[in-house]
Amino acid sequence: MRRSLVAGNWKMNGSVAMTDDLLTGLKKGVARSMPDVDVVVCPPFLYIPRAVQMLAGSTIKVGAQNLDIHEPGAYTGEIAAEMIKEQHCGYVIVGHSERRALYGESSDLVAQKAKVAVAAELKPIICVGETLEERERGDTGRVVREQLMCVLDLNGVEIFPFAIIAYEPVWAIGTGRSASPDQAQEVHALIRESIAELNPNVADHTRLLYGGSVKPDNAQAIFSSPDIDGGLIGGAALVASDFLAICKSMER
Ligand code: PEP
Repeated sequence: MRRSLVAGNWKMNGSVAMTDDLLTGLKKGVARSMPDVDVVVCPPFLYIPRAVQMLAGSTIKVGAQNLDIHEPGAYTGEIAAEMIKEQHCGYVIVGHSERRALYGESSDLVAQKAKVAVAAELKPIICVGETLEERERGDTGRVVREQLMCVLDLNGVEIFPFAIIAYEPVWAIGTGRSASPDQAQEVHALIRESIAELNPNVADHTRLLYGGSVKPDNAQAIFSSPDIDGGLIGGAALVASDFLAICKSMER
């Protein structure tokens, strides 16, 4: 049985006051229920120490949104895996489509980031997904498999089930246009089959998340698909009541 996981990606949003407000609300909501869901928040780096401090005693875990592949040294503006780990984070998002598109991150670099994360005992949430153009060309399966294979080629199947995959169709992120439950399930099944070709047992235990315009009103339908084990949530993760409702709909 795979444990459900819902992670909130705050992106470059927030302030100290917003961190305090949002986490106060989440802490209360998660304390009251949700024993079966791993809930993770990924604030901007600067708010991580505050988030960790505020969530002391809560089951909510903290993650980062990115990491650099190098050891600490002359890499101005970057954050090393061990720095994230030192702040008591358990997770890190790698290969988000915004990093791929806006900061030129290749699938090879994403695979390296996943490797560095695991070496630091951070669970990487590895994002894969196709653009609208690729979907319309009928290339979704090929694109997602290629992104996944880069991770597997460098890390081996042994990276799972510690690592987590988030399928996030680029056209669904922040657009209000989510994939349908069938579209999402089809790609999740493909990801699980691709891992199963290497090790069926590992595939069975690997958590696959869906991300892309998940809201309280569509979460239940998307999360009821058999290969979807939770969500990576952007916009709705910034509103405590919405994020809590989404987490709640993941309870099996
Ligand atoms: C995301 O940023 O990973 C995401 C899924 O965003 P949204 O939920 O806003 O589409």
